[in-house]
Amino acid sequence: MAKFVLIGSGLAGGLLAAYLGRRGYEVDLYERRADPREGDMVGGRSINLAISTRGIHALEQIGIADEALQHAIPMPGRMIHDRSGTLHFSPYDVDPKNCINSIGRAALNTTVIEAAQRYPNVSVHFNHKCTDVDLDTPTVQFEAEHGQLPAHGDAVIGVDGAFSAVRQSMQMQINRFKYDESYLAHGYKELTIPPASDGSWRMEKNALHIWPRKSFMMIALPNPDSSFTCTLFWEFEGPRSFATTKTDDGVRRFFDEEFPDAVPLMPTLLEDFRQNPTGSLVTIRCSPWYYKDKVALVGDAAHAVVPFYGQGMNAAFEDCVVLDECLEEFPEDRERAFGEYFSRRKVNADALADLAIGNFIEMRDKTASKTFRAKKKLDHFLEAALPGIYLPLYTMVTFTRIPYATAAKRARTQNAIVYTALIAIVLIIALLIFHFV
Ligand SMILES: Cc1cc2nc3c(=O)[nH]c(=O)nc-3n(C[C@H](O)[C@H](O)[C@H](O)COP(=O)(O)OP(=O)(O)OC[C@H]3O[C@@H](n4cnc5c(N)ncnc54)[C@H](O)[C@@H]3O)c2cc1C
Repeated sequence: MAKFVLIGSGLAGGLLAAYLGRRGYEVDLYERRADPREGDMVGGRSINLAISTRGIHALEQIGIADEALQHAIPMPGRMIHDRSGTLHFSPYDVDPKNCINSIGRAALNTTVIEAAQRYPNVSVHFNHKCTDVDLDTPTVQFEAEHGQLPAHGDAVIGVDGAFSAVRQSMQMQINRFKYDESYLAHGYKELTIPPASDGSWRMEKNALHIWPRKSFMMIALPNPDSSFTCTLFWEFEGPRSFATTKTDDGVRRFFDEEFPDAVPLMPTLLEDFRQNPTGSLVTIRCSPWYYKDKVALVGDAAHAVVPFYGQGMNAAFEDCVVLDECLEEFPEDRERAFGEYFSRRKVNADALADLAIGNFIEMRDKTASKTFRAKKKLDHFLEAALPGIYLPLYTMVTFTRIPYATAAKRARTQNAIVYTALIAIVLIIALLIFHFV
């Protein structure tokens, strides 16, 4: 059986190692950080994430969904906080069973790594930082505790995230490798709402909380320890921005003006704001995602997206399912398997990148409006009235495995039909009124 060298034991790396291990391949999984079970592995990354149908399906296929989801908190809708502190709950779907789930990154990472380690043919090596890959041999160079180390395999998979070292080697060694990165003008900072003194959640726990403020927003997802992790998405630069709000007084004033109902729930706001890093939000598109039968990219390494559809990890997990299917379909031709995987996923990753940017505008601006709530009600009415025919875009992306590109296209067609029908109805009513008055 072939030997795979995987770089990065993050969310997709651990899961992919389990899939490849199950297929009987010899797998060496290398990670630059220490073992997540030994302490804090989050290192400035989001503490919790929303997992939905695609991600859960990928976990189910390898038999670890129940284990992973045991502490997850279902979120059947958004809880919108306006400036006055008034709350509006807007369900994600007409079917209340369709929820997104808040899950801890560290716990999920441990679950996927342990799933991989159950296969005796999978070995995991922490504290190994990949510095370079020679694509043709393929050989990986690592910086490890005792100096430089090479590792060789039949194939190397870069599952090493948005700033992938494997992808950088591909950029340098593949002619006409296409690469594009674009940063949002917004960054993000994580803050905390701790549990109440009686150990309960200080807000509704079964909801994704949003404070939409037009050009920026804050969100909060519940954690199993009764806290919430809040994320402020705000401009890096500008008259009111991360750049101009440096003092405790400035931070306090900004929060008092914009999120007055959250401030009393955030006793460590000023410390959190000072101490927690401000992260960037990047979209990365590249092509191709593979080189011969030697190297491939999976997850954020191939297609980092901004987090506003809550789909980056879900898409990375879906990559693992599709790559596994392609290896099953072409067991004797790995280059063909890599090529199929790339062609099945690339168009969908590109569609997701666009959807994710579009959803930022929806979350931070439109969720606050009555029109948004009316549109959601209309969506849910049509979904219930035309089962299997009309599916809102959010439902297709989040609660089905319809490929992202197909979902985006179908939503455009549905919108065109619905808006044309609405205009026709308004015209007919106007004509009738005109006729009878
Ligand atoms: C604020 C925020 C919120 C998000 N919320 C959601 C959400 O709600 N739902 C969702 O689906 N997605 C969400 N995402 C996206 C999600 O975090 C990523 O899509 C997901 O982590 C991708 O998994 P990955 O395994 O490809 O990469 P990563 O999780 O980044 O893992 C990469 C791994 O590779 C290791 N590594 C990196 N370089 C090297 C090297 N040179 N050598 C060895 N190891 C290396 C890293 O240490 C890491 O362990 C969010 C992202 C952000 C920033």
